[in-house]
Amino acid sequence: TAKEQTNSLVEKDRNNIWHHISAYNEKNPPMIVESGEGAWIKDHQGKRYLDAMSGLWCVNVGYGREELAQAAYEQMKKMSYVPMSQSHEPAIELAAKLNKMLGDDYKIFYSNSGSDANEVAFKLVRQYHQQNGDHSRYKFISRYRGYHGSSMGALSATGQALRKFKYEPLVPGFLHVAPPDNYRKPAGQTIEEYNIQRALEFEEKIIWEQKETIAGIIMEPLITGGGILIPHPVYVEKVQEICTRHGVLLIIDEVICGFGRTGKPFGHQHFNVKPDIITMAKGLTSAYLPLSVTAIRKDIYEKFDTGEENSHLRHVNTFGGNPAACAVALKNLEIIERENLIDRSVELGDRLHKVLASLKGHPFVGDIRGLGFLLGIELVENKDTKEPATNARIGKIIGDCKTNGLIVGRNGDTVAGFNNVLTLCPPLSCTDEDFDFIVSVLKKVFKENE
Ligand code: PMP
Repeated sequence: TAKEQTNSLVEKDRNNIWHHISAYNEKNPPMIVESGEGAWIKDHQGKRYLDAMSGLWCVNVGYGREELAQAAYEQMKKMSYVPMSQSHEPAIELAAKLNKMLGDDYKIFYSNSGSDANEVAFKLVRQYHQQNGDHSRYKFISRYRGYHGSSMGALSATGQALRKFKYEPLVPGFLHVAPPDNYRKPAGQTIEEYNIQRALEFEEKIIWEQKETIAGIIMEPLITGGGILIPHPVYVEKVQEICTRHGVLLIIDEVICGFGRTGKPFGHQHFNVKPDIITMAKGLTSAYLPLSVTAIRKDIYEKFDTGEENSHLRHVNTFGGNPAACAVALKNLEIIERENLIDRSVELGDRLHKVLASLKGHPFVGDIRGLGFLLGIELVENKDTKEPATNARIGKIIGDCKTNGLIVGRNGDTVAGFNNVLTLCPPLSCTDEDFDFIVSVLKKVFKENE
């Protein structure tokens, strides 16, 4: 029977797979996912769930797209792998397309994951300063609560509790400052004042570390996995100004924000900034195949490949720019355009804000915030003290959503217990019926948990 088949898979899973994120849970084993269509995934026994967390892996066009499978299939049949030192049409066309989306003055470097793309950024920033004759700059500043990946450099840039686990020493030279958390800003300051003050923490760090030692700053346009912290525009603009003033390069991590999630092609396009380097991954292929990009502004690139010896970036990546992945990315971008999914992101996000406004009176809802079709609901025990909701309370709400067929995310950071933000980021291709389903489950679950 289906039940026996599932049990046998669960048994094999338990015996053979070492899962990331969390240990095997006997009471609540991982769901064996069978298939997906649109916003929905189906488990091995045919139960369907709407994946309102899919935006964290950026399945922006939804599951089960025949066209994307076809694009991969056609390319694999024609040419599955192109030797690294050669080039091929999907990579060329995709780079041209991405560059156009960025205003036509970037060079595109391919790898496979968000972590990879950030590692490339760190290496090339260090090399850039060296090639500029500036030999003392090697440090990076990022933010607490920011996530940039799990390889040693990217983990060192990450500002979440997991970096303090058992992997130290991390890569030397990675420093952190606090991000703006507008919900918890001190009383008596305007949002603008508070955001400027937070931006100036970068400058303080640059000065105290002696300004000629800082090579780059890395940050997401808004903190996603760390709990949906959306800065006031003055923050990001001030950070860029500080970078320019101190000769520090600005890396913007668009691994989650890119490709429409926040209602613009890229998250940083909400602000008046022009990053030196932009990293992107997941949403580039809507997570159908692994592919990532480090985009480098051409005036930075000009310091490389000058004809002098050793002026090229030393970074080999066997599968970076894989032809099938590039073909899927091209088709994915075509779908986003054809179906106006970026406009749809704005529309669905606005609608969700409006219909969830009624939850603001709920005793445990401290804040609801978002940009585009990415919303966070911060849960608290007490609205005056803003004490984060307990694990039991958050777990219950997430569990109840799942029982009702809705998968929602949980984000934030375990430092000081701020792992208390419910995250909603369904595919941008959600239908109106999907949207209504999400709203009805949330309303029901919050009502039951009053
Ligand atoms: N940057 C951000 C903002 C991310 O959210 C992630 C992944 N969650 C990464 C980088 C790392 O990407 P990957 O898991 O593909 O290495």
